[in-house]
This record gives sequence, structure tokens and C-alpha cells, in this order.
Amino acid sequence: MARIGLVAHDDKKDELVAWALKNRDTLKRHELWGTGTSGKRVIEGTGLSVTRLLSGPLGGDAQLGAMIAEGRLDALIFFVDPLTAQPHDVDIKALIRLATHYNTLFAVNHASADAILAAVQDS
Ligand code: PGA
Repeated sequence: MARIGLVAHDDKKDELVAWALKNRDTLKRHELWGTGTSGKRVIEGTGLSVTRLLSGPLGGDAQLGAMIAEGRLDALIFFVDPLTAQPHDVDIKALIRLATHYNTLFAVNHASADAILAAVQDS
């Protein structure tokens, strides 16, 4: 079982829910964590169990970063919106920085999320 973080910027939340629904059977075998609104959307859209952190702009991204630094997260699925400025850009950068530093499996879009799920499938 892998510990997987789920996050999506607002314009990407529908995509995250669709991806989670498509991969529901695989995801239900893992421990899922999500920022507040992304987690809520995944729960509502799929029925999967997701532990919700704070909303991203209010500290949820920072919480996921802390989990990575403490060795409590194995993979991060973060559907980033590359076309919209985010008010909490510094937190997003910190999360990406920590995922990079700690060599965490890290997907920013649908295609890479599929690859990560295939990689952790049997863990
Ligand atoms: P949210 O946060 O899931 O609470 O909307 C995501 C984000 O970091 O933008």
C-alpha cells in the first residue's frame, strides 16, 4: 500500500475526479491524502476514502510538503494548472521543491499520474 497525495488546481479538479474514477479500483488499495477541496471532490465523485488536509491556499500544500519531509508520503499526484496564476504560489513551489529533494514520485498531469499508479500498483 502506498501513501498518495492528491491535489488539483481549480481548473483541473474535474480532471482529477475523472482520473480517480477511472482508477478507482487501484486507488482504493492505497492510503489517500488530499488538500481540502480536491479531497472533497474526489470523495464525492468516486466514493473513495481520502483523508482531507487543509485547503491548499490555507496550508494544505504545506502540510503535504511536511508529510514528504517526514517520510509519510510515497507519491504526489498534483494536477497543476499552468495557465492561471495561483495566490499560494510560494506554497506550491515549496511542495515541488520538497518532492524533488526527497525524490518523491511526483505527477503533474494525467499521463504521468497513470505511470505512477502503475509503478505503485503492487507496493
Ligand atoms: P484545494 O487546494 O484542493 O483545497 O483547492 C489545491 C491547491 O493547492 O490549489
